[in-house]
Amino acid sequence: MEKGKLYIVATPIGNLDDITLRALATLKSVDFVLCEDTRVTKNLLDRYEIVKQTISYHQHSDARKTKEIIELLENGKNLALVTDAGTPGISDPGNLLISDLGFRISDLVIVPIPGPCAAIAALSISGFPTDKYFFMGFPPHKNKREKFFKEVASAEYTVVFYESGHRITKCLTELQKFLKPEQKILIGRELTKKFETIYRSTIGRMGDIKVEERGEFVVVIS
Ligand code: SAM
Repeated sequence: MEKGKLYIVATPIGNLDDITLRALATLKSVDFVLCEDTRVTKNLLDRYEIVKQTISYHQHSDARKTKEIIELLENGKNLALVTDAGTPGISDPGNLLISDLGFRISDLVIVPIPGPCAAIAALSISGFPTDKYFFMGFPPHKNKREKFFKEVASAEYTVVFYESGHRITKCLTELQKFLKPEQKILIGRELTKKFETIYRSTIGRMGDIKVEERGEFVVVIS
């Protein structure tokens, strides 16, 4: 029997209009949609009147869940993998599943369906050099956090990383500690959403801006 294909489908990072025609066609055509939070994905599917069975997959899913997914693919079912926001596999649990499935199913066809990604959206409006950039995911919470910011400080290229609302103020203080005052910074908050806010400053003048702590953040450093 021909194996099913695994489609890696990018979905909006906030604004539900940000989805490609090909992503919608793929979500309509597959047998199942693998998702992180079924409520988030259902909201998207409902908006486009797509009725599809979802299977939840997240960072705490166990080996049984992976086995179930492998069986579906081996039985010829086509699956779409989505995550809560943006491109699956970019700093989210999609990565683990893709790695596992690619390794365990020989000649599995994994098809990218590209679209939004918060890091790329922030880079695209930064105006900072992007011919070379360094994506660093999330700063670690505890140990190695200082090492992370030292690495940002010593990077030779534009740096982009993610941060949560409840750590953004702490993160900005840490950046001031390690970076040079003249370095430029862009903070993208709630991109594409109702309360989208773009803060542009330098590390030295950052004290002049009051960053709203609620929401999701991308930080770009020149
Ligand atoms: N795979 C996703 C992507 O392609 O962007 C990223 C997943 S990561 C688990 C989620 C983080 O991305 C959030 O904590 C936040 O830092 C960032 N993010 C997602 N949506 C965002 C948005 N609309 N505005 C700003 N940052 C966002």
